[in-house]
Amino acid sequence: MALQILEACINCDMCGPECPNSAISMQVVASGKKIYQIDTTLCTECEGFYPEPTCVQVCPIDVVVKVGVSK
Ligand code: SF4
Ligand code: SF4
Repeated sequence: MALQILEACINCDMCGPECPNSAISMQVVASGKKIYQIDTTLCTECEGFYPEPTCVQVCPIDVVVKVGVSK
């Protein structure tokens, strides 16, 4: 499982400062839009810090989603 921020992100900056691993930063995505994105090499899904991924909790429009990597 990994976390991803969807393009509907409004760059409200609620999630970035909350991330205990500084895994969230502004990036240019494929469409050319500049939005917050999660560096999956840094994200630990908040293990050891919070019971749930805190970026998912704080996002006011629910655009931080879990994406499956296995099946
Ligand atoms: S789940 Fe936690 S560690 Fe991962 S990006 Fe969100 S706030 Fe950061
Ligand atoms: S909290 Fe949600 S809308 Fe705000 S910057 Fe983060 S992902 Fe984007």
